[in-house]
Amino acid sequence: MMVILKTKNELQLMQKAGAITAAALHAGGAAVKPGVTTKEIDKIIHDYIVSHGAVPSFLGYGGFPASACISVNDEVIHGIPGNRVLQEGDIVSIDVGAKINGYHGDSAYTFPCGKIDAETQKLLDGTKKSLENAIAQAVVGNRLGDISYAVQSTVEPMGLSVVREYVGHGVGRDLHEAPEVPNYGTAGRGIRLAAGMVLAIEPMINAGGWPIKVLGDGWTVKTRDGKMSAHFEHTVAITQNGPVILTELK
Ligand code: MG
Ligand code: MG
Repeated sequence: MMVILKTKNELQLMQKAGAITAAALHAGGAAVKPGVTTKEIDKIIHDYIVSHGAVPSFLGYGGFPASACISVNDEVIHGIPGNRVLQEGDIVSIDVGAKINGYHGDSAYTFPCGKIDAETQKLLDGTKKSLENAIAQAVVGNRLGDISYAVQSTVEPMGLSVVREYVGHGVGRDLHEAPEVPNYGTAGRGIRLAAGMVLAIEPMINAGGWPIKVLGDGWTVKTRDGKMSAHFEHTVAITQNGPVILTELK
């Protein structure tokens, strides 16, 4: 599959999609509190996206029934919002996509619900740091494997593990474009990064082992060992001036 390079004009359009995605994600995150249901958070995100003239990228995608994926504790990704009531000490991974002017933004963040324990905080800090380190490698002339290696080499020394079955991706007119962006790999390997590539870089990191399972609902991905999982994602443009995070909260 071809990697589609975006023009400067397209990157400007993607800035808009990214800004709405980020604001919707963090509006949902601000609502994460004990006693709130995941369905209520999804509604906040949905309403934000629609009221800003955009379309929720995930609603109806492959039949997904909501605007945000909301995955709690040992749920890794693709959690379906519903009547689950959040509890003190939970972690809540929210993944949001918004499309406007023909282009998608895609971003995720794991929010703590009230006070969380030290081990879980370490998982969030490590996952967030792995995304930062990966973005720093998203520069012209590097290889795709430099991004993958940055994630893996950040979290594994912390005793955390990298989910293998799900990966990041190119993003643009389609929510999922080439190339795949694994969160594990070898530095110096893979395609060369070029100006105009836009990548959704999204480490999915487990506190325990990396094996996962998909629940009977056909969507929710959980850790096999029942330990916590975190997910941070940004849509990142590779430019001659370095990486530009299109989904940074303004
Ligand atoms: Mg996402
Ligand atoms: Mg994504």
